[in-house]
Amino acid sequence: MNVHEFQGKSLLKAYNVDIQEGFVAETPEQAVTVAEQLRGKFGSEYFVIKAQIHAGGRGKGGGVKLAKSVEEAGKLAGQILGMQLVTPQTGPEGKKVNKVLVAQDVYYKGDSEPEEFYVSILLNRNSGRYIFMYSPEGGMSIEEVAEKSPDLIFTEEIDPGIGLQPFQTRNIAFNLGLSGVAFKNMQKFLSGIYETFIGCDAQLLEINPVLKTSDSRILAVDCKLVLDDNALFRHPDLIGMRDINEEDPVEVEAGKHNLNFVKLDGNVGCMVNGAGLAMATMDIIKLSGGAPANFLDVGGGANSKTVEAGFRIILKDPAVKAILINIFGGIVRCDRVANGVVEAYKSIGKINVPVIVRLQGANAVEAKTIIDNSGLAVFSAVSFKEASALVTKVLN
Ligand code: GDP
Ligand code: MN
Repeated sequence: MNVHEFQGKSLLKAYNVDIQEGFVAETPEQAVTVAEQLRGKFGSEYFVIKAQIHAGGRGKGGGVKLAKSVEEAGKLAGQILGMQLVTPQTGPEGKKVNKVLVAQDVYYKGDSEPEEFYVSILLNRNSGRYIFMYSPEGGMSIEEVAEKSPDLIFTEEIDPGIGLQPFQTRNIAFNLGLSGVAFKNMQKFLSGIYETFIGCDAQLLEINPVLKTSDSRILAVDCKLVLDDNALFRHPDLIGMRDINEEDPVEVEAGKHNLNFVKLDGNVGCMVNGAGLAMATMDIIKLSGGAPANFLDVGGGANSKTVEAGFRIILKDPAVKAILINIFGGIVRCDRVANGVVEAYKSIGKINVPVIVRLQGANAVEAKTIIDNSGLAVFSAVSFKEASALVTKVLN
């Protein structure tokens, strides 16, 4: 589960990590109030207005702006709120901005220039260890650094049983080129973000930039936090951070029916039970000259209700030119699924695309009879090859 920058930062703060302070606003008026609060509390003269969407690269897309007064904070918030923000990570359609974070400007002038670093924590599945990935070249173009000067990206592996050790935080702070107070502050910062990562059961924590301010404080200016869905049951307080507005509405709808659905850009909708069979079905669609419009695993307990929900979801996609239902009758008997298909077909009413049904396994013969006798425009196939030939046929 993805959370917003402001939510990630609030968690960091709870683990005593220093952050660029700010509050979220949903209207220009609220933005002005927040800016006034920040001025009162931290003496901030300048403010940054940051679009809160589940995508990075906001700075490049015009979703992060510097306001030089409280009034300007309101004005810029008004410009950013409601905009369809396009960044290198949103796709061309962009994402609508419903909230902004109004934060203190932390790039103030002082004894030294502010410096931006990159730090992230993730799981290295090959070694089964956590890994700190970091670079002295933080800021908005870490992808470019990775491509052009990979030697400036460093890693430090953490044994999860032992945890982050002081020699490791020293090593990182040293490689980031720090010394003195900033070196010490960085060590504290790294321990804090590691504790946050472990404490929230995160899957990814990426802070870009980590800022060394002109007076040597170390702050999280940005925060991308991805929580492990499989561990969410341990964090009832974090579940509330989910923002449905940021998720694909069709995928949200599918989730309500316990369907594992992922939208793809092809023309053949598919409804399958079991992830492995779903993958094989997507392959056969490709081999038949089509392209899968979705991945849909209806799960082991498919019944007429699940089949109907799946149908409705697939039919929402105007790109779908055919639907392939490929179900293996194991726990669920094929004749029940066949009845489910027929019922769903009747209850949805007019379905304008050809539907190919392949039911194999327990009671497959009965199932084929049910489909063939239903009088509906459903093609039934027995073998995978037959199903694939039918897909080719209906697409041409
Ligand atoms: P992203 O583009 O989505 O990664 O958003 P970030 O939160 O990383 O912000 C983008 C950029 O805005 C940062 O790399 C900074 O250069 C700039 N920025 C963020 N906070 C401040 C601030 O307080 N003052 C100034 N002057 N720039 C900031
Ligand atoms: Mn960033």
